[in-house]
Amino acid sequence: MDMPPTVEDMTATISGTTSLTGQMLIAGTAVRGTGTEIRAFDPAAGQPLEPVYQHGDAGHVDAACAAAAGAFGAYRATSAEQRAQFLETVATNIEAISETLIARAVAESGLPQARLTGEVGRTTGQLRLFASVLREGSWNGARIDTPLPDRTPLPRPDLRQRFIPLGPVAVFSASNFPLAFSVAGGDTASALAAGCPVVVKGHDAHPGTSELVARAITDAVAASGLPAGTFSLLFGSGPDLGIALVTDSRIKAVGFTGSRSGGTALVAAAAARPEPIPVYAEMSSINPVFVLGGALATRGEELGRAFVGSLTMGSGQFCTNPGLVIAVDSPGLTTFVAAATEAVGNAPATPMLTPNIAGNYASGVDSLAAAADLVARGQQGGNETSCRAALFTTDAASFLKSEALQAEVFGASSLIVRCADTAEMRAVAQGIEGQLTATVHADESDLDEAGELLPLLELKAGRILFGGWPTGVEVSHAMVHGGPFPATSDSRTTSVGSRAIERYLRPVCYQDVPKSLLPSAIADGNPEHLWRRVDGQLTQD
Ligand code: NAP
Repeated sequence: MDMPPTVEDMTATISGTTSLTGQMLIAGTAVRGTGTEIRAFDPAAGQPLEPVYQHGDAGHVDAACAAAAGAFGAYRATSAEQRAQFLETVATNIEAISETLIARAVAESGLPQARLTGEVGRTTGQLRLFASVLREGSWNGARIDTPLPDRTPLPRPDLRQRFIPLGPVAVFSASNFPLAFSVAGGDTASALAAGCPVVVKGHDAHPGTSELVARAITDAVAASGLPAGTFSLLFGSGPDLGIALVTDSRIKAVGFTGSRSGGTALVAAAAARPEPIPVYAEMSSINPVFVLGGALATRGEELGRAFVGSLTMGSGQFCTNPGLVIAVDSPGLTTFVAAATEAVGNAPATPMLTPNIAGNYASGVDSLAAAADLVARGQQGGNETSCRAALFTTDAASFLKSEALQAEVFGASSLIVRCADTAEMRAVAQGIEGQLTATVHADESDLDEAGELLPLLELKAGRILFGGWPTGVEVSHAMVHGGPFPATSDSRTTSVGSRAIERYLRPVCYQDVPKSLLPSAIADGNPEHLWRRVDGQLTQD
């Protein structure tokens, strides 16, 4: 079997789509930045990586936004089939460079090769999912209320509705998924599917991975005959270039995954514009896991070990990491804590994505240590990016009155909240902030209690799991990766799965518009064979 190329092989390759040039890509043109120099950093080796990239400036933001605005008219006029084929071409182009891409992403993130191989599949799978959504057609939201000319006292006009794209979208790449939530990740795929040109602000932690993916998209734009401004990649500081992008009048929506402070800064900037725009920010979540008495009594040890498996996966750098366990004090809980303590104690130190994220993790653990009881630490690491797992306990009353104990600590750290009884457990469920997920472990004997918890958890989380652990997020039609603030800035939607397209669409009603001018999705005779709601009834006629 061929070995994947090394980073040295890769940076030495200066031809084709696998070259790394250290440039941004603005509407099909490679452009070197003018600002701060950035280099990716290999967190496992503790070494900086070539080539040098540079941050862009206000002129680059202007060029990318002007190109996106210029491309919008032609891009939104493409058929669903054309956009589906474009997304599939992006997926094919990414697969064609997957070995190079995985090697570079491993070097830039310290994440294991198997994880990043899976992430390539997740990224191309998302692109193909949106291609299938476009072909299926219900995203059009086609509705027709036929005219009632004889109705009294007033006739009803001919009313038709469909969704159209919002306009150019700014996407902020996440650090923790260098592929699936980055340049060609779910935000980009759903915005492009909707018919919106995209300007990505790449994450400084993985510029080489970003450049490779941006070239794959740029090549697909050209091969599909689309306007070059359909896609651009910029690098730059969040408070400078990022805010300039969000406040550019040509940008009409924003997708973001990252910290609460970053997400809320973008929401504030977007709301303060003369024309405010929506920001879909996925931010912070501690993903409570409720372990009920029957499950603890029969499976306490097994659950304690499995919990730590989920907690320490990927150095805990998942927005769905189980950062909170809630249970009633009992011998079963003691068994759970003992098993978890042993598993955390044996957990090897693993690299975090960047020295900055490792530093934030260390101070987050210090804050927890000041407010809760430490029960276990993982093994000590050898460099500045090492993540040492941490497990704490506290009681429900202390948890409910402490902001520090409720704050997300991004990394492999978790807090077990001991409750006096099930009423206190429900009080914790009511007292927590909005979450991406809430998990319940329940046996048959726990179902009455679980039934009382479920309506409380619906109000707090975007996804409720029974059994299992929250860290796997399926890309599918029924998935919700969202939830009330601070999990996201807009709980009405999801950033993963096919509903994500809805974030970048808005409904338009066409009243008595001449038949010859109607878009095909809502034209007479249903030329696209869509499911449409005609006079309230779903029909394909
Ligand atoms: P981040 O700091 O939120 O950065 C994400 C993106 O937002 C970057 O492009 C960043 O630009 C930009 N940004 C940050 N603050 C901004 C501001 N005030 N105004 C405008 N743009 C801003 O996230 P990160 O770099 O991935 O990791 C840092 C911390 O975020 C972690 O330690 C963790 O606490 C949290 N995090 C949470 C999740 C999650 O899923 N919940 C995921 C990743 C990270 P710059 O590069 O210039 O900063």
